[in-house]
Amino acid sequence: MSVVKGWCPGAHRPMLSGDGLVVRVRPFRGELNRAQVLGLCDLAERFGNGLIELTSRANLQLRGIAHEDHPALLAALQGLGLLDLDPSLEARRNMLVAPDRSPGDLTDRLCTRLIEALPQLPDLPAKMGYVIDTGARAWLGEAIGDFRLELAENGALLLRADGVALGRPVSEAEAVPAIIELAEWFVATGGRDNGRVARHVAKAALPEMWQRAAPRALGWPEPGIDPELGAVLGVPFGALEPDALRGLIAQCGATALRPLPGRMLRLLCPQPEAALHPGFVAAPGAPEMRASACPGAPYCPAASVETRSLARRLARRASADTDTNTGVSLHVSGCAKGCAHPRRADLTLVGRDGRFDLVRGGAPWDPPSLTGLDPSQISDAIRSA
Ligand code: SF4
Repeated sequence: MSVVKGWCPGAHRPMLSGDGLVVRVRPFRGELNRAQVLGLCDLAERFGNGLIELTSRANLQLRGIAHEDHPALLAALQGLGLLDLDPSLEARRNMLVAPDRSPGDLTDRLCTRLIEALPQLPDLPAKMGYVIDTGARAWLGEAIGDFRLELAENGALLLRADGVALGRPVSEAEAVPAIIELAEWFVATGGRDNGRVARHVAKAALPEMWQRAAPRALGWPEPGIDPELGAVLGVPFGALEPDALRGLIAQCGATALRPLPGRMLRLLCPQPEAALHPGFVAAPGAPEMRASACPGAPYCPAASVETRSLARRLARRASADTDTNTGVSLHVSGCAKGCAHPRRADLTLVGRDGRFDLVRGGAPWDPPSLTGLDPSQISDAIRSA
């Protein structure tokens, strides 16, 4: 087994974190059936820290896995049909799929073509990925993805490079070959040094042929009952507790679950109203959906502080205090590794020796402006700093 450092773990190549291995599961075509969901619940309890994490890019991950348990976990994932047999294909299958995909529709067909073509793509940086947003609405407009298959207002299919406003019209048959062509341009023009397409096109001139038509207006699902998707639920901090998930599945009779970007999930169930379950967010605007927090103590041995109840409390307070904190991004991290949000936030609280350091406008590893805060002091410290 190899362990990859960085922030793009898979199942075959997990990332080592403070609490053991992080094993990421990339659902095929963006969906897990009921048996797979229930099986993953069992695996989280048997091998992991007892939680399933829903990532901001619609993947699922188990964490706190012991090195010696990794082979048995892989075998169990394979038994559930959740594992690519080829590790190199798993690493490339970084795809976001329109959540209204149905068997045989355009999204589904493009998904099939892209999966089949993955071996033909050039070697790309590990975090690069694909968005297939060709459903009834533009659901994935804000989700990060380097190569984007989208629709124009007139229904024409486009391939758009992330970071540019316009895309190239393509037929269904041309779509995936065009992705390969664009990926080859990225590599040939030194894109690997920039890491992502959006960063690269800011420096290298993307030929005009790739910038001819505008996609339809960006869209994004909200928690609640969506007229096309049915039950969409928010998962605060992406933390799925197996018992809550089992209860939800049993309550609404879901046959499948589709993770969505932004730590949400769609349930495919006969009565969407039956999916409004305590512990999940079922209406837009919940403040805790705007905050990030890693598992913290007691789940992660690297943490000396509890994180998620503090993040929830601060997020709700910030939301109520609309004069000063509207739209402020908040991250509570158990330690300076910053697993839940390894990048900048307006306010980042970092646990250290049972207390918190406050970083303003930085990442968890940046120098703090205040140190050694007791959790009870934090709200006042944020207001006065
Ligand atoms: S950031 Fe959180 S989950 Fe990651 S190692 Fe630190 S305490 Fe553990």
